[in-house]
Parts: sequence; structure tokens; C-alpha cells
Amino acid sequence: MRRRYALKSMRRTFTAICMLAQGGRCAICGHPILPHEVPVLDHVIPWSRGGEHSLENVQAAHWRCDNLKGDMTMDELRAAIQQGRLRLPEPPEEEPPSAMEGEYGLQ
Ligand SMILES: [Zn+2]
Repeated sequence: MRRRYALKSMRRTFTAICMLAQGGRCAICGHPILPHEVPVLDHVIPWSRGGEHSLENVQAAHWRCDNLKGDMTMDELRAAIQQGRLRLPEPPEEEPPSAMEGEYGLQ
């Protein structure tokens, strides 16, 4: 019980740190994660493939983007998008047009 709580609070801290570092943007699509959207913690090298649960290996993302990435690495995801096998989810409608700029994301 106690351990589960510790894990949960660590995850929340990691997410907050990533959100700050990424300027509130999703690391996968580069669009802002709006206040009503709960960011998820994505493992850059997937957990299922030996990626660590450390700050160096996590990034904040929309759940829909994380869901799309699945257990791929960012390089594999980028390749899948370039080859037309996958498409990044459309950004939410509330987003202002200027939000396309930013150093994060694949676009
Ligand atoms: Zn996203």
C-alpha cells in the first residue's frame, strides 16, 4: 500500500518536471497539453524493452500520443509516421494557431 503510493507520487512528480521542461507541450506531437488534459508519462525507451523509470527516460505526452507510440522508440515512431503507417492524432480544437511552433515534437 505504502509502496504503491510512493510510486504514484513519484510518477506525478516526474510528470510535473517533464511538463515544465517541455514548456507544457507534448513530447510526441509538440502541441500544448491543455489544462483539462491529463498528461501521461511516456518512456522514451519503452519500459517493456528495458527502458528505465528515470527522469532521463521519461517525457510528458498526451495520452492519445502515448497510446499511439505504444512500445516503439521515438525513432521508430518517427519512421512509422514518415512511411505513412501511423498518423499523429489531431490537436484539440481549442488550440490557438501559434501553438504549432516549438522545439518539441515530430512536426
Ligand atoms: Zn501529443
